[in-house]
Amino acid sequence: MLISIVIPVYREEKNLPKLYERLRAVTAALKDEWEFVFVNDGSPDGSMAALKALAAKDPRVKVLDFSKNFGKEIALTAGVHCSAGDAVICMDADLQHPPEIIPQLVAAWKRGAEVVTTIRLSVDGHSLARKTFSWLYYKIMGWFSGLEMVAHTTDFRLFDKKVVDVFNRMTERQRMFRGIIDWMGFKTEYVEFHAESREAGEAAYSYGKLWDLALSSITSFSLVPLKMTAYLGVAITTFSSLLLGWMMLAKVGLLPGIFTPLAMVVVANTILIGVVLMSLGVIALYIGTIHTEVTNRPLYIVRERVNVEPPARENRRRSSDFPNSLST
Ligand code: UDP
Ligand code: MG
Repeated sequence: MLISIVIPVYREEKNLPKLYERLRAVTAALKDEWEFVFVNDGSPDGSMAALKALAAKDPRVKVLDFSKNFGKEIALTAGVHCSAGDAVICMDADLQHPPEIIPQLVAAWKRGAEVVTTIRLSVDGHSLARKTFSWLYYKIMGWFSGLEMVAHTTDFRLFDKKVVDVFNRMTERQRMFRGIIDWMGFKTEYVEFHAESREAGEAAYSYGKLWDLALSSITSFSLVPLKMTAYLGVAITTFSSLLLGWMMLAKVGLLPGIFTPLAMVVVANTILIGVVLMSLGVIALYIGTIHTEVTNRPLYIVRERVNVEPPARENRRRSSDFPNSLST
């Protein structure tokens, strides 16, 4: 069996040699064949040079070099597109995903799991704010998307070829890798591990990026925000109609209260302005998503490939099956 390991790389110059050593040691102990697909996501540091050095030593190391930073989700996608394995394992380059549990992932796969998801038991080195954010994220996501979100699952996962083939047919642009996989279903098993803190460099996912990720995972998986605004609109309209009714009844003396008609109109108007603004905000979010989908730009642009010739999966299919990958 050939197993591909896909690793997105952004500013990981220092971690790469260590990561490769650990991967090599772990995979050497297993019978399967391996390929290591690194996607350099426009790192400004020496990551590409480090990858080329690894690729020169070991032909199993394949490298895609993006023309700029496209983000982790897209880097993962590109890596999965070009991997040829019977199973694909995705993991981070910063050693927070210990290669040592790969044998457990592979064992679960061989027992029949189609997706093997890891669960991070502790997050040494993450701030309290970050942990709170992550907790909140799972709460809100589960609520909004209606997908069953298992808390503390990570992007360190194994996918069977069946899953990969379905994944490769998805064309949406605003991607949330794990969200897409969760949405697809398939038989999933879980493997737990203890997180280590980041080896070198800084976490590249800023709060801003995490927020974007959370927003795009909401808009790409649910219409709940739209519905909520609609409910709110109904509630406020009902409320102001009742108020208007009361005002009119008070006017003819059937109910207590003295209202200036003008004051009432002003209050009602202010409420309505709020509703309109909120609806516009939500609608803009969706239109934004539609916009990025219809512009139909390639998901990523590859500047250079090392040890990837011919691109395995892309070659096996017609090019029209890959509407959103472009390479020079
Ligand atoms: N990464 C990437 N592109 C980016 C940001 C991050 O390819 O724009 C990679 C990074 O090199 C690492 C993984 O994604 O392999 C996770 O990044 P990070 O450790 O910064 O995220 P966190 O662990 O905090 O979720
Ligand atoms: Mg990390």
